[in-house]
Amino acid sequence: MKDTFGMFIHVSWKSSGHEMEYFFECPYCWERISIIIDTSVNDQIFVEDCEVCCRPIEIRVVLDNSEVSSFSASKTD
Ligand SMILES: [Zn+2]
Repeated sequence: MKDTFGMFIHVSWKSSGHEMEYFFECPYCWERISIIIDTSVNDQIFVEDCEVCCRPIEIRVVLDNSEVSSFSASKTD
């Protein structure tokens, strides 16, 4: 039996070296956008402007074995 749920998770990002492209929905405009995560840092918080509406999104990422174990994107205001 194939692990289809695991396959679904793994098509949502590509890993290369210490950088991972992660896709999520903007909390302002709900467009699907992506960011590059540095997988060498296990716990990080940063602000990234949405590539669609240009509003600042506070992003929190927790990594476990270079995979995202917790992710949240929230409005800064
Ligand atoms: Zn947006």
